[in-house]
Amino acid sequence: MASEAQITPMMAQYRRIKRELPRDALLLFRLGDFYEMFFEDALTGAPVLNVALTRRGATPMCGIPFHAANAYIGRLLQAGWKVAICDQVEEPRKGQLVKREVTQILSPGAHFDERLLAAEQNNFLAAVCQRSKTYGLAAADLTTGDFLAAELDTPEALLGELERLRPAEIIFPSADASLEQLLGAAGPAGRRTPAGYEDWVFAPETALYTLRDHFQVAALDGFGLKDRPAAAGAAGAVLHYLTQHLRRDAAALTRLRLYQRGEFLLLDAATLRHLEVLEPLRADAPRAACLFGALNRAVTPMGARRLRDWLSQPLASLALIRRRQAAVQVFLEASGRHEELRARLAGVRDLERTTGRLSAGSGNARDLAALRLALEQLPALRAAVAALEEVRPAAGLREGELLPAGSASAPPPEPAGLLPELRGQIAEFPELTDLLQRAIVEDPPLALKEGGLVRDGFDPALDELRAAMRDGKDWVARLQQREIERTGIPSLKIRFNSVFGYYLEVTRANLDKVPPEYLRKQTIANGERFITPELKEMEGKILGAEERAVKLEHEIFQRLRETVLGRLPALRLAADALAQLDALGAFAETARRFDYCRPEMGDGGALHIRDGRHPVLEQTLAEERFVPNDVQLDRAAQIALITGPNMAGKSTCIRQTALLALLAHTGSFVPAREARIDLLDRIFTRIGASDDLARGQSTFMVEMCETANILNHATARSLVILDEIGRGTSTFDGLSLAWSIVEHLHNQIGAKTLFATHYHELTELAARLPRLKNYHVAVREWRDQIVFLRKIVEGGTDKSYGIQVARLAGVPRPVIERAKQILANLEESELTPEGDVRHARRRDRERLRELTPTPQMDLFS
Ligand code: ADP
Ligand code: MG
Repeated sequence: MASEAQITPMMAQYRRIKRELPRDALLLFRLGDFYEMFFEDALTGAPVLNVALTRRGATPMCGIPFHAANAYIGRLLQAGWKVAICDQVEEPRKGQLVKREVTQILSPGAHFDERLLAAEQNNFLAAVCQRSKTYGLAAADLTTGDFLAAELDTPEALLGELERLRPAEIIFPSADASLEQLLGAAGPAGRRTPAGYEDWVFAPETALYTLRDHFQVAALDGFGLKDRPAAAGAAGAVLHYLTQHLRRDAAALTRLRLYQRGEFLLLDAATLRHLEVLEPLRADAPRAACLFGALNRAVTPMGARRLRDWLSQPLASLALIRRRQAAVQVFLEASGRHEELRARLAGVRDLERTTGRLSAGSGNARDLAALRLALEQLPALRAAVAALEEVRPAAGLREGELLPAGSASAPPPEPAGLLPELRGQIAEFPELTDLLQRAIVEDPPLALKEGGLVRDGFDPALDELRAAMRDGKDWVARLQQREIERTGIPSLKIRFNSVFGYYLEVTRANLDKVPPEYLRKQTIANGERFITPELKEMEGKILGAEERAVKLEHEIFQRLRETVLGRLPALRLAADALAQLDALGAFAETARRFDYCRPEMGDGGALHIRDGRHPVLEQTLAEERFVPNDVQLDRAAQIALITGPNMAGKSTCIRQTALLALLAHTGSFVPAREARIDLLDRIFTRIGASDDLARGQSTFMVEMCETANILNHATARSLVILDEIGRGTSTFDGLSLAWSIVEHLHNQIGAKTLFATHYHELTELAARLPRLKNYHVAVREWRDQIVFLRKIVEGGTDKSYGIQVARLAGVPRPVIERAKQILANLEESELTPEGDVRHARRRDRERLRELTPTPQMDLFS
């Protein structure tokens, strides 16, 4: 530990470095074999790291050993902190303050800690800003090189994207209080609090400069950012933050993808959550109990990430959907060839993150070996795709009976769909492959410092140094033999350790035979250790050669790394194709295993599903067999109102329909016997407040906000799933709201709607709304039990079964009888003789009559 006198200049150095850092970064200050934290940082860090807080004078401090630093840094990142690594940048000299500098700042959205990164998920750093009424969003993942930007016109759209991307870190202009509020309100559990960042960085002028400088281009037209100041501002801010604030190298971000939300089937944040697309709603559910979990049969992490991306961003273009479908179909028809392709893909592993690490300077020789392995697969992968392209879909599509009459099926797409294009993206890299094969040993060590990663015969200078090392070691071995003979000590050994270097070891029993020229160095339990000038001279030569060899190997590694980076764009393009092939393969594998069908898709406004199953439930259901169900929605049958008792299967049926529609738009096949799913523009899903248990803070207000959002944004091409809407308030309130919401969807919007409700009274709507159809879930009473048949059948129910369910559950008969009486009384007194709700004032009732075209029907008959 440094003495009191030395602390002052060092502390001055510490304070200067700390002053220049962002305020929310913890400074890890290298002191010999430790990283130390002082003052506030120590007070913050010690409990997070679970290390002892000590004091030197009045200064609180704590430290972590240098060699185990990564694990500790990971804990700080996970707790949401930024960590500034301050290293000694010169060899320490006695009596002088060693020069120190912050070499990089790690943050939750910009790090390479494998322990914190989910293999199947991007780790995005996002920037958000607002220009007039438009939101700009950009997100970068240093580990994969993904860099994307978009402009969004509404807060809902912005929140939808954030829900989908789930950034590990979000920055926004610090002066924008409304944005701060919006982002703060959005943050579901687990997401980092958004942090303000210098406003001027988000200004289009600054951003354009930053972007042009990064991409080395004169204009940004090529990125589509020319007239998109909000997106450009966000993208520029991401780069500025990475390079200036975090002092990181952003070379991994080789291209920027600007996307339009309108190119995709829109799913807002609530729908993504309610449908459990990316993860289950309930925190205690198994992680795989979601759509992604049910579909993820990718064989590489990058394929899994792509699948996540596709599921959360389904397509809105028939041509693009059909290209994916065709590829899936080819995989299914040539399952042998597809198996071979998947086996090869598995060997590629995470090519994206491998190249990401290499480009960010955090890679090691293992990454070069992994890259070599991936490159070696490429020719065979290309050939495997080419072989699959030869496959002609056998009989074409089965002509569905579900096709509405007159709507001709679309012209057949190119038989192999996406495959030729993806194959075209996969370059072969013969020179790079050859270079890595010659340069890197079969199984290189993790640490770069110890050398041993470059093959013999690759570099003559290295070979020479290694020969010197070997000769030196041979010489030492010969010396040992010579000394044994000369001294007559058969057990004499020459050994090496990092403290003394080479030494001669003699056991206690033989100490009297030690020659006088041996210099005693250390006494150990059963003997002594000696050195000789001759041995030390050779040691110098060996260690010198070793040191130079390690340095040379490091130089060779850096040269190889740069050669790889020279091919980065082509490598990324290949990785992109492999990720897509893997995701398509996962679709095919799931379709094969669970007997999915290829949905027919067109523009006819139909949603017809025969024997559809819930993709997640059918894989997890243990005791019961999943009962398939039909759904028929189209322009003539726009709204399906599903009634039935609790636990009958209403929610399952309507969510399953939404999931099948979503899946169809990703290009996946769907769990059904037959399906016609025409193009949608959005899917909305809402769950009544009292049913939405997972969100602790859920209130009727949330339910109504979400409903308002639907009524304001749904179109005739949308699919709306309403589950027990209105349930979060009193019966008559809820019933009236549900009633008028359904009317509005029917008369004004025309969206295809599935409405599950326990308000059996709503079935009356069918008589007034021609495009509304009643369904109920069949239930049979059998001895003492209710048997749920799980079958959706036409027609409404006329009772809510509540009392019946109570009876079957064993509630005593007198209680049941009394409840029946009360119910009868209630119904009588709540209604006027005409059957109107008493709470409605006369004036309102008259207005209601004026508004309704058909004569007022009995609400409760
Ligand atoms: P409801 O919304 O009518 O109260 P749910 O849709 O929540 O009922 O279904 C209750 C339970 O019934 C589900 O958790 C599931 O286990 C089972 N279930 C629902 N639909 C089916 C089905 N089609 N086949 C088999 N089991 C089903
Ligand atoms: Mg339900």
